[in-house]
Amino acid sequence: MLRRKSQSMRATNKRQNGEETLRQKLEARGGHLTKQRVAVFDYLSRVEHHPTADEIFLAVKRKLPRISLATIYNNLETLVECNAVSKLSYGDGSARYDIRTDHHYHTRCLKCGKLWDLDSAEGAEALKRIKPQKGFEVKDYRLELLGHCRECRR
Ligand SMILES: [Zn+2]
Ligand SMILES: [Zn+2]
Repeated sequence: MLRRKSQSMRATNKRQNGEETLRQKLEARGGHLTKQRVAVFDYLSRVEHHPTADEIFLAVKRKLPRISLATIYNNLETLVECNAVSKLSYGDGSARYDIRTDHHYHTRCLKCGKLWDLDSAEGAEALKRIKPQKGFEVKDYRLELLGHCRECRR
């Protein structure tokens, strides 16, 4: 019982800290903390995978029933612009949104398209040893393990 209480208190603190950081990031860019932005950010902080705008829309709609998909897209763009959220785009036009903005890796399911964080210190070490061709300036990199998730393998 006691443990459960302290865990929920920690979760509340974490969310409040998150909101404060979000407010600062938005205000640094001339934006404001709105309840829609908080709802989007809050949902992204709680999910284990990195959802699409449609998934975010469906989840946030439960809290804010009058919100539109266009508003979700606008708010996501704002959150990406102020570096509170990362946007992971793929060639087929489907973008996924990630609460983390630091460099990290992902596992991606080829069947359902879901994306999860993969924490691997070895990845950073391996990348240091990889040398691109002469004259190539590296701007960014991605490391993804592709496969089938537990749900899709059933
Ligand atoms: Zn899957
Ligand atoms: Zn991620």
